[in-house]
Amino acid sequence: MGKILIVDDEEDRILTPLVRQLGRVFGGENVEGVTSVTAALQYAEQESIDVVITDLMMPERDGYDFCRTFRSNPLNLGYIIILSGRDGGIAAGLRAGADVYFRKPYDIDDLVAQIEKGIEVTRNRLFSMQDLLTGLFLRRIFDAVFTLEAAKLHRMPQPLSAIMFDIDHFKKINDTFGHAVGDIVLHDAAQLLKKSSRKSDLFVRYGGEEFLLLLPGASEDKALEIAQRLHQAMVEYTFPQAGQVTASFGVATTTRHPENLVTRADQALYAAKNAGRNRVVTADPERDPPT
Ligand code: GH3
Ligand code: MG
Ligand code: MG
Repeated sequence: MGKILIVDDEEDRILTPLVRQLGRVFGGENVEGVTSVTAALQYAEQESIDVVITDLMMPERDGYDFCRTFRSNPLNLGYIIILSGRDGGIAAGLRAGADVYFRKPYDIDDLVAQIEKGIEVTRNRLFSMQDLLTGLFLRRIFDAVFTLEAAKLHRMPQPLSAIMFDIDHFKKINDTFGHAVGDIVLHDAAQLLKKSSRKSDLFVRYGGEEFLLLLPGASEDKALEIAQRLHQAMVEYTFPQAGQVTASFGVATTTRHPENLVTRADQALYAAKNAGRNRVVTADPERDPPT
């Protein structure tokens, strides 16, 4: 399961007892407490979170700020419970992205039931973002995340890489073994490649048998290394129903023109197909458009 995160500046009176109470119900390893919004957002970058319980009034950044910032990343699916002793501010909390409002002092049984509900909601949110056959993210999720990462790149220069890949002669697999086996191969290939990629990267089913891996912060060397690892995983694996299956990979990296990244990765993939398939090809370096 994902984590339950509690954000409250009152450490002794609220945070510590609540972490302990919820740890007894959901397992100590699943419950984390932090005393600031900044620490909470940092934690959210490292861990996947099912439920956040946040205070509203905190020094420096408040609970509204947390809700807005957390929700601005489409991959933050966690259910947000505002836990506040304050009168009013409910509507603003919900508008900032919270899911529900709880009044302090709280009844622990009610809160636990609300958390259970929240975990279920988060699961359903994730499910609605994934392709049924492979469990990978849908292309529309890629579009949302890519927009965010591209905007980041304009603020602080750091590389953004993409690996586009496609199963070789997949049509032949369908024709030889049938569509159902084709489906199994797609599912198994996705699982295999997911294992060989990093958790921080976004793995997308881009088209029928075409996949895309978005690697924020990855240099060209790093992206190439990961593509080679994925390629190798396919080479070494024997699919129970279809035997050897290979894939071709196109790698591209940008620091300045994210708008061309996917096209360049796609061109590199096309070059890999033309060069005989079953290989990794890196895109040409990005060029500034003529002025
Ligand atoms: P290449 O090596 O050039 O990529 O050749 P290919 O045969 O893999 O590529 P092509 O684009 O000619 O054919 C892809 C096939 O993938 C056609 C389509 O019917 C099949 N396909 C797409 N989505 C699915 C799916 O979800 N399940 C199955 N079984 N087949 C699919
Ligand atoms: Mg407070
Ligand atoms: Mg193909």
